[in-house]
Amino acid sequence: MAVTRIDLLERNPRKRVLIAGGAGFLGCHLSDRLMEAGHYVICLDNLSTGQSSNIEHLLGHPHFTFIAHDIVEPIPMLGRVDQIYNLACPASPQFYQSDPIQTLKTNFMGALNLLHVAENNRARILQSSTSEVYGDPAISPQSETYFGNVNTMGPRSCYDEGKRVVEALFREYRLQRGVSVRIARIFNTYGPRMSPEDGRVVSNFVVQALAGNDLTVYGDGSQTRSFCYVDDLITGLIALMEAPDTVHDPVNLGNPCEFTILELAQTVIDTLKAPSGIRFMDLPVDDPLQRRPDIGRARKVLGWAPQISLREGLARTIPYFVERLSQPSGTTLVAE
Ligand code: NAD
Ligand code: UDP
Repeated sequence: MAVTRIDLLERNPRKRVLIAGGAGFLGCHLSDRLMEAGHYVICLDNLSTGQSSNIEHLLGHPHFTFIAHDIVEPIPMLGRVDQIYNLACPASPQFYQSDPIQTLKTNFMGALNLLHVAENNRARILQSSTSEVYGDPAISPQSETYFGNVNTMGPRSCYDEGKRVVEALFREYRLQRGVSVRIARIFNTYGPRMSPEDGRVVSNFVVQALAGNDLTVYGDGSQTRSFCYVDDLITGLIALMEAPDTVHDPVNLGNPCEFTILELAQTVIDTLKAPSGIRFMDLPVDDPLQRRPDIGRARKVLGWAPQISLREGLARTIPYFVERLSQPSGTTLVAE
């Protein structure tokens, strides 16, 4: 039977949880969920792609602390920490490619700094890895045993190789130092509280359709992605963190329903009954042609599978963008 929100709340005693990247899209949803469950959350974030509006409602709560900090620098003293989620890294290609050296440093040095905190506190640590470790995959669906097909010298390699080296770092910290590690390979995830300027495909298409503009499809739109709604993903992340220590190898978390980008564009246009057309643009270099997770391992070791379809997820996401876009510009975004 699939693991549910209620199961997770009932299973976990109160903990002090550090979330690096807690003001980002996934981080703010995770903060909410852990606080709903009664945990204490410490959010470390340099607000490079995160938005302070994402966590505004938590500021001042006695179980929430926000610390503006770049994880490339040593982590300040935080008191006892039981669990660490490392979500700190820009996830949108336009942002991780805007300062590739910082992306590489965030991945390697940031993860190293957080592993020190985990080791010193005997805390469990979860890394948000990515389907990008599979690069432009030669097989589909992608299972965790596939080694991937990554260009080490392309515009995406700062992100892909950064994430791959952190998986190796986590493995060695487990084997050499006895740190309890978890590795989530996350596939494309969407939902409320993505920044309208994020540049990823779901937010771009929804914002464009709401404005009645044409949707920007890169390439011919035949490339595929598998889109996971954020609530499902957060349930999977928490289930992985709570899994027994035998679950130390990477676990794919994503929705196995695969769509071409053109199908996604049409679904957004249909859902919003938008007057928009399609504007075809150049396909970015090294853009993977196919992505679909094999979630057999997650089903088996976590009892997890996504519950929310793309149409339902879009219906839950669109009202957020309607509200964001109705606010006067400049009042909500704090991405620096
Ligand atoms: P996001 O860009 O919204 O959030 C990342 C957060 O990390 C932001 O708040 C940003 O300010 C912060 N950050 C970046 N560099 C930092 C640094 N050096 N020090 C401190 N904070 C820093 O992205 P997201 O979608 O929330 O992704 C979260 C994590 O999940 C990332 O590690 C990403 O690689 C991974 N991931 C996400 C997806 C997805 O579809 N959302 C897919 C695969 C992997
Ligand atoms: N994409 C697109 N139009 C956009 C943004 C993205 O066609 O406005 C395409 C992009 O080329 C890729 C897919 O949508 O093939 C997913 O892009 P995204 O940046 O969301 O994530 P990625 O999986 O590439 O990291």
